[in-house]
Amino acid sequence: MDHSSIRASNIDVKRLNRNRVFRYINRHGRLSKPEIAQALGMSSPTVLFITNELIEKGLLREEGEFESSGGRKAKAISPNHDARFAFGLDITCNHLGVVLTNLSGVVIKHIRKKKRFENTGQYWQFLAESLTSFKSDTSVADEKILGVGIALPGIIDMRRRRLTYSHVLNVFDVPCEEISRDIPFPVAFTNDANAAALAELNNRQDYTQAIYLSLSNSVGGAIIFRKDQFLGQKRDDDAWQNDNLLIGDNFKGGEIGHMALIPGGKQCYCGKRGCFDSYGNAKILSQFTDGNLEAFFRRLQEGEPAFKAEWERYLDNLAYMINNLRMLADCKVIVGGYVGGFIESYLEDLKARLRFLDTFGDDGSYVEACTYRFEASALGAALLHIEAYINTI
Ligand SMILES: [Zn+2]
Repeated sequence: MDHSSIRASNIDVKRLNRNRVFRYINRHGRLSKPEIAQALGMSSPTVLFITNELIEKGLLREEGEFESSGGRKAKAISPNHDARFAFGLDITCNHLGVVLTNLSGVVIKHIRKKKRFENTGQYWQFLAESLTSFKSDTSVADEKILGVGIALPGIIDMRRRRLTYSHVLNVFDVPCEEISRDIPFPVAFTNDANAAALAELNNRQDYTQAIYLSLSNSVGGAIIFRKDQFLGQKRDDDAWQNDNLLIGDNFKGGEIGHMALIPGGKQCYCGKRGCFDSYGNAKILSQFTDGNLEAFFRRLQEGEPAFKAEWERYLDNLAYMINNLRMLADCKVIVGGYVGGFIESYLEDLKARLRFLDTFGDDGSYVEACTYRFEASALGAALLHIEAYINTI
């Protein structure tokens, strides 16, 4: 090893340590330096050096002292979550969701507007105007904005930066630059279900593999296959998802909605018959309450027999698909999307069905409700910028 490579690896180690310290404090909040040193197995002088460096950069701050039973009181170190911000947009067929997040990665503010999607310049302008008016309500300074993430219900070709397919929006081969043309910040694009999976991934440290099933007005999915955090190199905004999701050869990985559940069954909007989407999308339920899914679950709770029968049928189909996913990947299955926001109260019913279908002894405990019930896709899209930035710390 020559001197230059020894020097390079020292820089890598320093950077790795700095990044670990920031991530730890960013996640856990107010801590003392001895706590940080112990949790990360670092020496006190290293932690002191790094925290001073990060305080100088405005990413951490000293915030009072901890009570002490004797001796010197330890100073408290807190993350400065508001050092940077990112926005996320979730484009659906009939709505636009907008969120603001900061380095904490949680939703600080969100709105949802009713607006029918159109493949027109007017619609792209509407996106930019919605963002501008939302931003002006937040008082976030422009220099703190890392960028905007846009989630779409379709296949995004990240190499060519094009929305190649969206059956839901009825558009094909639209350049991403066209969609973001009026937005004056760096823009990253992602599939909506992938984005929602990234939001879950960011919130949960306890698994490396999972399948995220998005049951919204269309069905999407994402396959989480978490690798170690990459550090020390300049990465694209997309890098985080590329490294932690199974994207596939053509960016179509995880299109669970178009896996056949019932051969020759109901006509799917994609052109095929019997796709899971036709049995698992949220409209299957909300069609009985004028598109209002919350109203469906309210009436289900009230015990109306017709609603109970529809729900049972829906759960039967869902269980078949989840059982398939479990056979495929033997990992957790997270139920998300619009229906995922209501599934918690019915998890035991779902697990009972899964136990019945399982011939390999699984008890169904691998199925979980999503933790983000609102605007998960918009948040996940915004997190592309947050994660890319944290990676450079
Ligand atoms: Zn289909």
